[in-house]
Amino acid sequence: MNLAFATIDQLRTALEKKEISSRELLQFHLDRFKKYDPKVGSALEIFDTDSILNASASSGALAKIPGIIKDNICQKNRITSCSSKILQNYRAPYDATAIARLKKDGALLVGRANCDEFAMGSSTETSAYQKTTNPWNRDCVPGGSSGGSIAAVAAGLVPWALGSETGGSVRQPAAFCGIVGFKPTYGLISRYGLVAYASSFDQIGIATRTVKDTAHILSVIAGNDERDSTTLPYKAPNYAAQLTGTIKPGMTIGVIENALNAQGIDSEVVAAINGAIKDLEKLGARIKRLQLPILDYSAAVYFILSRAEAASNLSRFDGVKYGLRVKQPTLAQMYAQTREDGFGQEVKARIMIGNYVLSIGHAGDFYVNAKKVQSIMRSAFTQAFKEVDLLIAPTHPAPAFKFGAFDDNKLQMDLQDYFTCAMNITGIPAISVPCGMSKSQLPIGFQFIAPHLAEELLLQTAHAYEQATEWHTMHPAGFE
Ligand code: GLN
Repeated sequence: MNLAFATIDQLRTALEKKEISSRELLQFHLDRFKKYDPKVGSALEIFDTDSILNASASSGALAKIPGIIKDNICQKNRITSCSSKILQNYRAPYDATAIARLKKDGALLVGRANCDEFAMGSSTETSAYQKTTNPWNRDCVPGGSSGGSIAAVAAGLVPWALGSETGGSVRQPAAFCGIVGFKPTYGLISRYGLVAYASSFDQIGIATRTVKDTAHILSVIAGNDERDSTTLPYKAPNYAAQLTGTIKPGMTIGVIENALNAQGIDSEVVAAINGAIKDLEKLGARIKRLQLPILDYSAAVYFILSRAEAASNLSRFDGVKYGLRVKQPTLAQMYAQTREDGFGQEVKARIMIGNYVLSIGHAGDFYVNAKKVQSIMRSAFTQAFKEVDLLIAPTHPAPAFKFGAFDDNKLQMDLQDYFTCAMNITGIPAISVPCGMSKSQLPIGFQFIAPHLAEELLLQTAHAYEQATEWHTMHPAGFE
C-alpha cells in the first residue's frame, strides 16, 4: 500500500494491525510536507509533533488520522490568520466546534492551510502570505478559496482537510485538483469558530480523495451545536456505514441541461460529464434532462449578498479587538490605518461593494432584489427535486487556470462561481467528484446536488459513481 495516497480505512487498518505506530504515521505525513510542500505551498504552518499528539484524544473513530485545517477555522492556542495581515498574530482562544469534535475523536490536526484572504477568491492568489500551486501543474492555480487544504490532500500530504464554503470554495478547488469536495446543507455543521465571511452562506466543507473518507469526517463533525443557533436540530448518522456501492433502486438523476450548454463552457468538461452520465445510467439511474434557467442569476445574487454580509462581518476588525493595530494620533485614524494596512485589495473591494449595496438609496435595487431572487431560486430547486432525486452539473466551466489569468478582469473571475454558488444561496448540499482529465493533464470534476439534508443519498450515489470509475485513483506526478 502507498501510505501517501491511502484512505482513512486503510490507515486505520495499518494502525490496528500495528504495521505502523501512530507516531510513525504522523512523522510520515510531516516528512511529506517537508519534502513536497516547498513546491505546493499548501501549509502556512505545520505544528510540532508533540503538540499535535497532545491536542487530541488517543482513541476514537478518527484516532491518529492526520488532516489539515483551513486558516479560517479556530484551533485553540494556534494562530488563525485567515491568510490576512490583519490577523497575522491572532491566536484563537478556543476550538471551533468541528475542531473540538475532531480532537475528541482522535484526529490529528497537523497545521494551518493557506487560503484566499478571508476565504474571498477562486485561486488562493489573494492570500497575504504565499502562493499555493496546483499539484498537477505548477503554472496553474489550485482553485480557491480553500486551495491550501485541497492541494495538500491532492498531493498526498494528508488524507483529509477542512475548508470552508461560501460560494464554492471547497468544490471548485477539489475539481481543479482531482479530489472530492463536499459542501453540507446549511446548518448541518456548526459555524462556531469558523471566521465569518457571509454568515448566511458559510459552512465548513470537507476535502478528501474518496467519498467514503468525506463520510467518515462528516459523521464526526456534523450535527446540532448549542453554540451555533443556525445549526439544525439534527443528530448526524454514521454516513460511511450507508455507502453500499450501489445507487438507490429506481432513482432519477436530473441533468441541468442549461448548465451543460452554458456559454463559455469548455468542451472537454462537457465531454467528461457526458461520460459520467453514461456511467450513472449503467449503474441503473434514470436520467432526466431539465432546465434551471434561474442559475443565470446566481453569480449576481451571490456577488451582492456575500459582499453585503462581508461588509458587516469584517467591520469587527478595527484594531481594537483582534490582531493588527497601527498606532495613530486619533482613534478614527487608527481604525482607518489598521484596515488600510491589514486588508488586501480583494477584501477592501468587497467591503466597499457590500456597504454600497446596503446603503440608503441603493439597498432596494441591490440587496432587497437579490434577496427576492434568492427565494425564487429556492423554489426552483424545490420544484426540480419534485421531479428528480438528485441533480448533476459541472463544478466549474473549465479545468484549472493559470496564475494571473484574471488579473486584468476581476469581474470575469466572479463568473467562476456560476455553477457552485447556487447551492450556497439555497443552502442545499453538493459534492464535487473527479470525472475526467483534460488533454493537458488537468483534472475535471462534476457535482451531485441534493435536497436539504439528503446527504445520505448524495454520498451513497457519489460513492457508487466513484467506485465504478477510475478517476479518483489518479494522482499527480512527482509526489510518489
Ligand atoms: N469564489 C468564491 C468567492 O470568491 C467562493 C468563496 C467561498 O466559497 N468562500 O467568493
